[in-house]
Formats: sequence, C-alpha cells, structure tokens
Amino acid sequence: MKSEDNLTSVDRISKNCPFMQDCSEEKILLFEKNGYPIYECTKCDLRFSKLKEIENHLSNVYSDDYFFAGGAGYPNYLEEKKELYNSGARYAKIISKFTTPGKVLDVGCAAGFYLKGFEDAGWKCLGIEPNETIASYGRKELKLDIVTGDLENFQTDEKFDLINLIEVIGSFHDLNKAMLKVENLSKKEGLVLVESWDHRSKIARFFGKSWHEYCPPSVINWFTDITLTELFDSYGFDVIATGRPSKKIKGKHALEIVAKNSPEFIFKKQVFNFLRFTVGKITLAYPPLDLKWYIFKKR
Ligand SMILES: [Zn+2]
Repeated sequence: MKSEDNLTSVDRISKNCPFMQDCSEEKILLFEKNGYPIYECTKCDLRFSKLKEIENHLSNVYSDDYFFAGGAGYPNYLEEKKELYNSGARYAKIISKFTTPGKVLDVGCAAGFYLKGFEDAGWKCLGIEPNETIASYGRKELKLDIVTGDLENFQTDEKFDLINLIEVIGSFHDLNKAMLKVENLSKKEGLVLVESWDHRSKIARFFGKSWHEYCPPSVINWFTDITLTELFDSYGFDVIATGRPSKKIKGKHALEIVAKNSPEFIFKKQVFNFLRFTVGKITLAYPPLDLKWYIFKKR
C-alpha cells in the first residue's frame, strides 16, 4: 500500500479555495480519483474537488442507484433502517445534554431514519433530501415532513434550534452558499450537529488515494478538526463538544466499500461473493477512527 506522501505530486495551481476565496495562493494537486482532481489548500488544509457540471449533479449523484445499487452509496439503504434509527436516537440523546427539544432541520435526511430517532425524543422535524424516491418513502412510511431539494437552494422563513449535517458537509457543491444557509437558518444559540470524516486521520493517511471517502463526485470536500472548526468559526459558531460515533453497519455494506477500494486480484469476485454469503449477513461495529461528530453553537 502506498502512503499518501508518495502520491503527492506538487503541482501548484491558482484555484480559489472553496473555504475562502483568498484563503491561500497555493493549492496543491494531490491526485486524481474517479477522473476528478483533488486539491489541498496549503493554508486551511481543506481538500476539495470541483464538479464538472453543477446542473443535474444532485439527480445524477443521488439517483436511486446511490441508495439501492451499492458503490459509493448503499447496497440497499432500507435494509439498514434499524441501525440508522438507532444512530439517530443516540445523537438525540447526546444533543439532550446541551439543549431541550425544539425544531430540527436534517440536511440530506434520506428517508429520515435518523430524523425519526429525533422525533421519538420529542423534536419537531423537517428534512431536506435531493432524491425524490427516498424522500417520498420517508413522507409516506415514516410520516415525516421532508422537502425534496438541496440546502443551497432551500427557501424558508423558519429558524431552527438544531441543524443536522450528518455525513453531508463533504457533499456541498457550494460550500459557502451552504454555510450561509446554515448561519441564516440557525436561531441565536442554535446548535449544528456535524458528522464528518477526517482526512488527517491515521486510516485516511494509510489508505491515501484509496481511502473510501475520496469518492468524487458524491463527496467533494474533505476536512480536518481544524478546518471544520475554523469554517464554523468564520460563520459565527463555536465548537462545544466532539466525539466518535459508535456506528453499526451491515456486513454487506462494509464489503461493498472494501471491494470497491481494493485492487484487483485473482478470484476477487469469487472471494467477495463468498464473503457476502458469510460476513455479509451480520451487523458490524464500524471502527470510526476516521469519523467524528461535532456540536457547534451559534454565538
Ligand atoms: Zn483554504
């Protein structure tokens, strides 16, 4: 396995950092993945890619295949509903240490299993989800209020006590526009719950280019503790707590991720088919060494 440093070609470009337009003069091209260049800003440490076309991006990336056909998304999202609901309930419990239930906005809520965990803890819920199929499932089956669309273009006069950005901040195609929305939609002293992958974690550095989170175009921004904290600080939020989620996923989903990110070898297909029949059926505790949650509070 190659380390990240070996992959780094110091190709300096003058591209604006999506974090701040004048963030740094130096952006280094680190490598290409899925045909997309991945850059690093030498000042803020944000890694980012650029979408080739913004139009149709959401409907292409978060098509039904994302939720039901494996790859970067889920082999079958609905099979993980119990694990997703439990994760939501766990987060609602963590949040209860910092505030009493009010109105929560969950961005990229899918069918809303996380959101259901918040509803059962006393929260009034609203979700935004780009995929219409999964959003309508949530409206019909979970009786949740879900708007089809993205945060960047979301319009409302309402303000929220809590905004959930769970594994979604890496996918904003316009980071500044999305952060402005977060700022404007938050009540004074409102909270934002973020779950995000750390590109400086040991796992990410070990896998380098093969790290599963480098999956443009569905993910195009990669953060560290510091970049995320500075990003929220610049929009008027202080970090008040962080931790590691205890995640459980289906073995089948974990195998999809490993299969997709491992090199070809002889009998690879057969090996993975065998594993799908064995490990694929159990529920695994995900070792979240490259994943963290953060709670930010509006000043
Ligand atoms: Zn920067």
